[in-house]
Amino acid sequence: MVVDKLCIFCKIARGEIKSQSFVAENDTFFAIHDIQPMAEGHTLVIPKKHCVTLLDIPSNMGKDMLDLLKKVSGELMDEKLGDGFNLVMNNLVVAGQAVMHAHIHVVPRKEKDGLHSMTQIKGR
Ligand code: 5GP
Ligand code: ZN
Repeated sequence: MVVDKLCIFCKIARGEIKSQSFVAENDTFFAIHDIQPMAEGHTLVIPKKHCVTLLDIPSNMGKDMLDLLKKVSGELMDEKLGDGFNLVMNNLVVAGQAVMHAHIHVVPRKEKDGLHSMTQIKGR
């Protein structure tokens, strides 16, 4: 497994940080609640191995990624945490990426929730 010793998401993937709220996992991806949620249920889908951006994620992990995105998004909808949802991925600093281990935000959306949808997730 490719890991970065100092990377926060690699540490979470290795189970070194216990306080994380795990949502689901499969062979190559895991999902946790964002520590600073934009909305209730805001979840991050993260490759277990250290990848910096989408471009580093091997294509043969694509099915696992889609499966987990659909599971997380579907459960948020089933739980009525959103009437819709955004998938957002910030790739590199100029696009708003703060944690340099690839991750996809799943953000439940409600009418008039005041969130942006088409720009980087933090809306800066
Ligand atoms: P980015 O701007 O890189 O797309 O977003 C990084 C996200 O990771 C932010 O929404 C931030 O709240 C979240 N985050 C940063 N550190 C941690 C952590 O230790 N645990 C969890 N669960 N989320 C984190
Ligand atoms: Zn990492």
